[in-house]
Amino acid sequence: MRGGTTTRTSKPLHAEIAGGGFAGLATAVALRQRGWTVRVHEKASELRAFGAGIYLWHNGLRVLESIGSLDEVLRGSVRPPIYETRRDNQTVSKEPLPGMAWRVMTRQTLHAAILAAARREGVDVVVNSEVVSADPAGSITLASGQTLPADLVVGADGVASNVRDSIGFAQDRRTSRDGITRLLVPRLKQQLGPGEWDNVIDFWNFEPCVLRILYSPCNEEELYLALMAPGDDPEGSQVPIKLELWTRIFPQLTPVLEAAASISGRYDRYQTTVVERWRAATSPSSAMPPTRCARHWPKAPAAQWSTGSAWR
Ligand SMILES: Cc1cc2nc3c(=O)[nH]c(=O)nc-3n(C[C@H](O)[C@H](O)[C@H](O)COP(=O)(O)OP(=O)(O)OC[C@H]3O[C@@H](n4cnc5c(N)ncnc54)[C@H](O)[C@@H]3O)c2cc1C
Repeated sequence: MRGGTTTRTSKPLHAEIAGGGFAGLATAVALRQRGWTVRVHEKASELRAFGAGIYLWHNGLRVLESIGSLDEVLRGSVRPPIYETRRDNQTVSKEPLPGMAWRVMTRQTLHAAILAAARREGVDVVVNSEVVSADPAGSITLASGQTLPADLVVGADGVASNVRDSIGFAQDRRTSRDGITRLLVPRLKQQLGPGEWDNVIDFWNFEPCVLRILYSPCNEEELYLALMAPGDDPEGSQVPIKLELWTRIFPQLTPVLEAAASISGRYDRYQTTVVERWRAATSPSSAMPPTRCARHWPKAPAAQWSTGSAWR
C-alpha cells in the first residue's frame, strides 16, 4: 500500500469506501497519506457517531497517532487511575494497569478527531450515499444505481455490512441473548458523594438477577453508562431504563441512574459475525496480485469490535 500510484500510468490509485464511521474515515486518512485518492460514502444525511462512550487501548491509540488524530483525542479523553471491579457492590479488584496505554472518551470525541484528520487530508466524503453492493472485480454500486470503479473497495459499513453481504462470503451471524443500553449522563460527582468516582468501575450483580453496569468517566463532564442485561429480562432490557430496578440493585449509583432514566435510550443485543474466508475487493486494473489487497484468514472473527463480541 506504500506509494499510491500505479507504475504503468502514474495515476494515483483510487479507493471507494462504504461507511463514514471510525473505520471508514481512518482507512481513508491512511490511504490519503500514501497518495491515494479516496471517496467515502456515508448513507446517513450527516457524519456522526452513534453510541455513548468508547475505550481505546494501545493498538487503537497507535492508529490514531499514525493518522494525526492522537493529540485531539488525548485532549478530549481521560486515562482513569484505576480499573475497579465490584461484585454485589463489594470491590473485588482494583487494577491501576501500570504501563498500559488506554483512554476513555465519548464516541463523538473520537469521531470528530478522525473526521478532522480526513478533512485535513482532503478526503472526499459524500453523505446520503448508500452503497448497496461491491464487485470483487473492482467497483461499488450505490442506491442511486451509479457504479463507481476503484482500485480498492473498503466495506466499513458496520456490523450489517452491505458490502460484505454482496460479496457472498460464507458467514455466520449470531445474536447473543445478552444486550446493552448505552447512555451518556452528567458526571454528578458531588451528588454521588464520597468515593473514587474517577475510576472505571465494573459493577457485576448475579442475584436475584443478572445485571451489570460499566461506569466509565469520559471527561470532567460526561459519564458513559453501559447497562447490561439478558434480552429475556423484560425489566432489565426496558428503555427508558426501569429506575426502580437499577437503583435497587446498584444504590450507590442512584444520582446518575436517575439522569439515565430521563433519556429514551436503545437496548441492543450483541452480535457476532464469523466468516470462513474473506478477501478485499480489488481491481484487476491495478494489475496487483491478490496478495496485496487480499487476505485469507480461516476462521477469522470478522470485525470483532463491530459486533461487540469482545467489547472491552
Ligand atoms: C456495546 C458495544 C460496546 C463497544 N465498546 C467498544 C470499546 O469500548 N472500544 C472499542 O474499540 N470498540 C467498541 N465497540 C466496537 C466499536 O463500536 C465498533 O468496532 C466500531 O464502532 C466500528 O466502527 P465502524 O466504523 O466499523 O462501524 P460503524 O461505527 O457501525 O460505522 C459504520 C458507518 O457506515 C454507515 N453505513 C452503514 N451502511 C452503509 C451503506 N450501505 N452505505 C454507506 N454507509 C453505510 C453507517 O451509517 C455508519 O456511519 C463496541 C461495540 C458495542 C456494540
